[in-house]
Amino acid sequence: MSSQTKYIFVTGGVSSSLGKGIIAASLAKLLQAQGYKATIQKLDPYINVDPGTLNPYEHGECYVTNDGAETDLDLGHYERFLNVPTSQANNITTGRIYQSVIGKERKGEYLGKTVQVIPHITDEIKQNIKFLASENKYDIIITEIGGTVGDIESLPYIEALRQLRWEMGEENLIVIHLTLIPYLSAARELKTKPTQHSVKTLMESGVQADILVCRTEHELSQGIREKLARFCNVNSDCVIQSVDVNTIYDVPNYMFREGLDKVVLKKLKLDYNEPDLKSWNIFLDRYKNPKGSVKIGLIGKYIELQDSYKSILESFIHAGAVNEVGVEVFPVHSEHINRENVEEKLGSFDGILVAPGFGERGVEGKIESIKYVRNNKIPFFGICYGMQMAVIEYSRNILKLTDANSTEVNPHTKNPVIDLMENQKNITNKGGTMRLGAWQCNLVKKTLCHSVYGSDKIKERHRHRYELNNKYLEQLEKNGLIASGINKETNLVEAIELKDHPWFVGVQYHPEYQSTVSSPHPLFVSFIKAAKNNNK
Ligand code: GLN
Repeated sequence: MSSQTKYIFVTGGVSSSLGKGIIAASLAKLLQAQGYKATIQKLDPYINVDPGTLNPYEHGECYVTNDGAETDLDLGHYERFLNVPTSQANNITTGRIYQSVIGKERKGEYLGKTVQVIPHITDEIKQNIKFLASENKYDIIITEIGGTVGDIESLPYIEALRQLRWEMGEENLIVIHLTLIPYLSAARELKTKPTQHSVKTLMESGVQADILVCRTEHELSQGIREKLARFCNVNSDCVIQSVDVNTIYDVPNYMFREGLDKVVLKKLKLDYNEPDLKSWNIFLDRYKNPKGSVKIGLIGKYIELQDSYKSILESFIHAGAVNEVGVEVFPVHSEHINRENVEEKLGSFDGILVAPGFGERGVEGKIESIKYVRNNKIPFFGICYGMQMAVIEYSRNILKLTDANSTEVNPHTKNPVIDLMENQKNITNKGGTMRLGAWQCNLVKKTLCHSVYGSDKIKERHRHRYELNNKYLEQLEKNGLIASGINKETNLVEAIELKDHPWFVGVQYHPEYQSTVSSPHPLFVSFIKAAKNNNK
């Protein structure tokens, strides 16, 4: 194997939402399954420094890495497919690039020069791309450029790519262009013209695509493949079709059958070995052939949008496969739940997950839901805000602190059972200032959490400002809500559970960020098992 790190760029053409992230993750999986060490990096052309300040409606879930970076949800796919942690270095935004360049300019680092897009912004981009290679951890780095070719915003990235390819040579850097081949039903024909144009647009910036991955609703005939190859200037074995499949987890096998990994390795002059997808396929087989099913109610306020709770939904898939059941998730809008309709809304579910969230909207519906599942012994899993709501519910209804609340919702409550810690109180900037990233947590012996994890110490990722107020802990514990996970350094409660309930767990952290195909998260696995036992 060559010691030079090889680069694969993935660009998108014709339309957004074609799934560059899934193609990149699937290719990386195939390379990993042949023994290559691969990682993926996402370049996002927006000016936000990170997606942490973006509403989920804008950009879906914000994914958090171990080092506390708030990143694009595609990094979640990379981790779930590869089971290798990512970090801040795996997600670069235009905002971050400019912030760094402007910071250097203020320090005088450009020595009186006029600071310009070329070379300063493009140099900064190139440096960030090459940074991942500097640790010598990877044989191959796949870099996904967000957006669609032709967008004004992505031009500096395409220019950086052009320069890098020139510097590194064609054997060390290749370009995969993901494109759409639309089907015109009136003409009963697949159309190649939009792809020809987008490849041409890329060429106007000096970048020739090496491989086309063509999203299509119908199989590409040999004729269409040859036409695409001829007009787009690629070899005919480099026209890879990607017909819609039932699940994203099918894409690695699909790309394998289409030979994407083979042409990639040939172009990069690396050896090809048959990828070992045995354990991946065992998972797929279990996922596709469940022996039963469970119904889970997902209570949140961004339920219209699949992407808002991406990692939670994927964690259910992993946990369902382990339990050999299909997990049917029914999103329920927390704003639509009240005391009168809670039974009708939630009564048929085998388990309830109350989702993370921010702000006042929908909070009372979450609290009503938790009261219902606590009284009716329905398995309950509360994540972050969901855990905080469980503490509020218990305080109101069992401790009889009727105005108990989080100061996020009611800053004037007499019983702030969830409150800001001192070190959060003076923070005014919203971006990157929450409690973020992986924190250690000690699990208390003889608790459900301890037995589920089978370990005394765990590390889980956080993304929140508010915490369980320790002033109320003794009172809560005396009345049956116990802290099963504690951060030893800060004494903060990281996990709670109820003694007198078949499965009632709330966690201040986000376990969903760590669930992967090869390492499904134990809490999700156990929760689905409990739901299975409660099957209606
Ligand atoms: N809004 C809560 C906090 O900031 C919970 C955040 C979350 O659910 N991720 O503490």
